[in-house]
Amino acid sequence: MNATVMALPQPRNVPQIQTRYRRIITPIPVPQSIPILERLHRDEPRSMAGQPPVVWDHAEGVSVHDRWGNRWLDFSSGVLVANAGHSHPAIKQAVLDQVQHGLMHNYCFPSEIRAALVETIAAIAPAGLDKVFLLTTGSEATECAIKLMRSHGLNHGTTSGRDKFGIVSFVHGFHGRTMGAQMAGGTAAGKSWIVNLDPAMVQVPFPDGFRQTDTRFKVFLDALHQHGMTPDRIAGVMLETYQGGCSQFAPVSYIQSLRHWCDEHNILLTFDEVQAGFGRTGRFWGFEHYNVVPDLICCGKGISSGLPLSAVIGRRDILDQFPPGSMTSTHTGNPVCCAAALANLRIIQEQNLIDHAAQMGPILDTGLKRIERRFGEPIAQAVGTGLVGTLQVICPGSTNPDAVTAGKIIDRCIEMGLLMFAPVGVGGGTIKICPPLVIPEDALLEGLDVIGQAIEQTLEGT
Ligand code: PMP
Repeated sequence: MNATVMALPQPRNVPQIQTRYRRIITPIPVPQSIPILERLHRDEPRSMAGQPPVVWDHAEGVSVHDRWGNRWLDFSSGVLVANAGHSHPAIKQAVLDQVQHGLMHNYCFPSEIRAALVETIAAIAPAGLDKVFLLTTGSEATECAIKLMRSHGLNHGTTSGRDKFGIVSFVHGFHGRTMGAQMAGGTAAGKSWIVNLDPAMVQVPFPDGFRQTDTRFKVFLDALHQHGMTPDRIAGVMLETYQGGCSQFAPVSYIQSLRHWCDEHNILLTFDEVQAGFGRTGRFWGFEHYNVVPDLICCGKGISSGLPLSAVIGRRDILDQFPPGSMTSTHTGNPVCCAAALANLRIIQEQNLIDHAAQMGPILDTGLKRIERRFGEPIAQAVGTGLVGTLQVICPGSTNPDAVTAGKIIDRCIEMGLLMFAPVGVGGGTIKICPPLVIPEDALLEGLDVIGQAIEQTLEGT
């Protein structure tokens, strides 16, 4: 190891825990896991070291296990991926069957299973969004949406030249880590490496009601004006359905005004549903909460509950802009991923996971608001919709994030057998709760109780 390698956390003796959903029987991190963590620290970029030191061995349903007998109740779904629960038997079987069948890859050559999946997704999408382009990652999907929106604008400019190519997105938004996706993101620090930022990609405030208290649509128009962007120069608007960093939706009236404004100016509207799709918010698509239909949907994560797959779904005229062979991806519709996605979509429907997420929503929201009331600052802006929710940890008297305290709270959760990923959002101050959609009510309540205990211990300094 050289001096630039970050120090690993030292094992800490913690009280043993044994409940229906959690079992902690070793110090945390597990001493025997340290060599594995050291290998990862040595051989991977430092950027990969951001998560709590739980070495996953296997996972099923709402449980993640290590190799040493510990079991965590999962409040992460990986990162909002395992919507149908980890290793769902039907998804496992579908993957095994596909592998046994003997087709693991076919590039862009036709396959029957890809046909089945795009047909299924097109049938689930709102009427009019009937073309589906399968990709591998969320970033790939958002990059593709930027390309599609911009090309559409270039071909539909209102003036003589090819000058309708602006892309509008939102401050604090996240669309991935590749160049275009990161330029559309709303965090300056994330783009410092790009240097030549595209002046036609601008961000406007997201009406979260917390850091941006004026949530009127007028703020959107004023911000564009300040950026010197006129509607005739704008090709598309892309936004997360709820902002991942705070799980906050925009006001319904704001999004309806946005939809109307886009229609008026022939501007495409893309919802980035990479997190919000596939039942997470208690509706199949998160944008259903707004009662609008976008022109393009980007999705991924919960599409397969585990295998790498994403998609751009949209209007025929938008998706069909590029000629054969010019908008492709090596692993498009990988047959094993398609098998997982088909099984996953069946499970979401057959097990009524969307209704379940909708029913759990008020329990999560109430539980988080109760925590906020119990502690007050530094805990703020408790929000839950369906099975995604957040707590902001702030420096009292401000909306500034307190990443250190948020990190300590997560550490305590891990020690008590509740699996959470590292804090996210503005300045790393957001604690995010997003269990698999199969979580039973008593497990959800147990996890919320653990968060309360973790905050109490952290604020008491124990
Ligand atoms: N969009 C949103 C809303 C996301 O949450 C993410 C990933 N967290 C992405 C895009 C990028 O997805 P990926 O990491 O699969 O590239």
